[in-house]
Amino acid sequence: MYKILKQGSCRAFGKTIDKRALNKFYEIPAYCIYLEINNRKILIDTGYSNSFYESTKNFPERFMRYVTPVEKNILSLEETFRLNDLKLDESVNILISHFHPDHIGSLKELSNNKIFASERELSLYKKLSSVKKVKNAFLEELLPKSFEFISLESTLKSEEFNEYFEEVYDIFGDKSIYAFSLFGHSPYQFGFYVPEYNFFYVADAIYSEKNLFLDDKLSKTLKMISWDKVEAEKTFQNMKKFVEDFKDVKIIVTHEVFEGE
Ligand SMILES: [Zn+2]
Repeated sequence: MYKILKQGSCRAFGKTIDKRALNKFYEIPAYCIYLEINNRKILIDTGYSNSFYESTKNFPERFMRYVTPVEKNILSLEETFRLNDLKLDESVNILISHFHPDHIGSLKELSNNKIFASERELSLYKKLSSVKKVKNAFLEELLPKSFEFISLESTLKSEEFNEYFEEVYDIFGDKSIYAFSLFGHSPYQFGFYVPEYNFFYVADAIYSEKNLFLDDKLSKTLKMISWDKVEAEKTFQNMKKFVEDFKDVKIIVTHEVFEGE
């Protein structure tokens, strides 16, 4: 089974997110995915949490509050789990797509869990100046005090799907979950493909699945906010090629703009 969970939201002007959106502000949800597969419990990304406000008390971090007006009084991830009849405990493995606040927001609650994330991305972000960290939406304060994780890049490198994505990892070595390189939006963003449930979680590589099926190019806004425009466009084209060949795959984005319309 798998379940898409909403963990907090943020307000944004529609047109800046997708050209098909209306001229109004949208409440943009941050989704994460809980799944059970091969006797493993897994959570992909961790959404927002109230830690966002604690970690943006001072400047320059405070700027983040204006760029992404995050919902206040967000339920803890544990409560979100409970409301969905799920249990969040230390046996849940955590997969992180990239180190932006809406993906690592609840990590402080999960410091005793097994966490998988890109080591290259974290070490790159950590070397930036404090202003550049904020400019690139990296809030180091959101990380647990003693932050230990397994590098995605240290998991089993796979030759499968290499015609679509430059780097592919078979995370648990049993072909249950693949990490696909979706670089560009952030330095080393990964998406996660789960063949058994036939979904591909693409995180922030796009903001709506419509982008992938209706557009020829990555949207201007997504390009503008990306870490590397060339890589982000390349990733977009790679994903298009993938969905052309895997026609019935379900694309799951972190922020589906058109949800509920
Ligand atoms: Zn992001």
